Amino acid sequence: MKQTYLITGGSGFIGSNLVNRLLEDNNNIVVNVDKLTYASNEKFMDHKKKSNYIFYKKDISKNKEINKIIAKHKPDYIFHLAAESHVDRSIDNPSNFIDSNIIGTYSLLNESYLYWKKLNLKKRARFRFIMVSTDEVYGSLKLNENKFEEQNPYKPNSPYAATKASADLLSRAWCKTYNFPVIITNTCNNYGPWQFPEKLIPLTINKCIRKEKIPVYGKGNQIRDWIHVHDHVEGLIFASNNGKIGEKYNIGSNNELKNINVVNSICDNFDKINSFKYGSSRKLIKFVKDRPGHDKRYAIDSNKINKLGWKSKISWNEGLISTINWYLNNPKYLKQISKDSYSGERLGIIK
Ligand code: NAD
Repeated sequence: MKQTYLITGGSGFIGSNLVNRLLEDNNNIVVNVDKLTYASNEKFMDHKKKSNYIFYKKDISKNKEINKIIAKHKPDYIFHLAAESHVDRSIDNPSNFIDSNIIGTYSLLNESYLYWKKLNLKKRARFRFIMVSTDEVYGSLKLNENKFEEQNPYKPNSPYAATKASADLLSRAWCKTYNFPVIITNTCNNYGPWQFPEKLIPLTINKCIRKEKIPVYGKGNQIRDWIHVHDHVEGLIFASNNGKIGEKYNIGSNNELKNINVVNSICDNFDKINSFKYGSSRKLIKFVKDRPGHDKRYAIDSNKINKLGWKSKISWNEGLISTINWYLNNPKYLKQISKDSYSGERLGIIK
């Protein structure tokens, strides 16, 4: 069946992967609205040439322009991914995060709601707004605490997490107050192709390639839960088709790892892939002063979406090796984009 998807932030890391996946079906029309910040991949994407792909370089908070795009393309689904997403940048300069993640979400929700309200009954019943969010809204876990479940209270610790929590709450309110069909998804740390190399995994791979120091915050004991971006994208599509309106779904892969173990695995696999010809990449690791308010542990419980019928498929080893190979095979991406990488005081290394 022909479906029109409007994706915000479709030029970013997760958005590019979602757009690629949706374009695999030639019946789909994919409309991408992205402001093209430093984090966007648009210039590298092959799908630019596809006839069922439409791109708008627009800021989601410009409501009149967004209104026109929505009215023109009449989407069946809106996947809202556009956001400022880097915690370190949010500590140094929170204002862009307030603008894009809170004001932008408000603006998009309102324009989407006004559009949805006027649809005929059939189209209105089919429409879904998927608010793509993060596990960071739940705060930080102690080692002995249960994983985050959907009903956990929101306790965001960084400016980034606070703006995403606000966006989730606005989305919830539009659903409860106006019956607007919202589904909220909260995922953990994603990794895979097309991730801007200031985040832990591509940054470490990039440093291994360049033989530069690999910065690790504190002792690297922070625990994160990792999911391959292709699994996350499948989870988003599944939630849009099977999720219940007004519900939240955690999308994770049951894969908790200490940052230092992630870095060590990258170094070891990188060395193996290169037949150990550069010696041990672990020697490049440099422990640096910890980030203020650094959350100790995130871990996400995906039982709710698992019970509905979705499970992640990509194992950590398989996903990591394919990711390292992807960056090795795309030196042009790493090289061009590295020029824009964050070089603030706190060595941006992890989301
Ligand atoms: P990203 O930073 O790689 O991409 C974000 C994209 O949004 C960029 O292309 C940027 O140009 C665009 N954008 C930013 N502000 C905009 C605005 N005002 N108007 C239009 N476009 C705008 O981020 P990502 O890692 O792909 O994350 C996508 C979404 O998933 C975000 O909402 C993020 O909070 C969420 N998320 C990401 C992760 C992760 O591990 N990457 C984990 C949990 C949740």
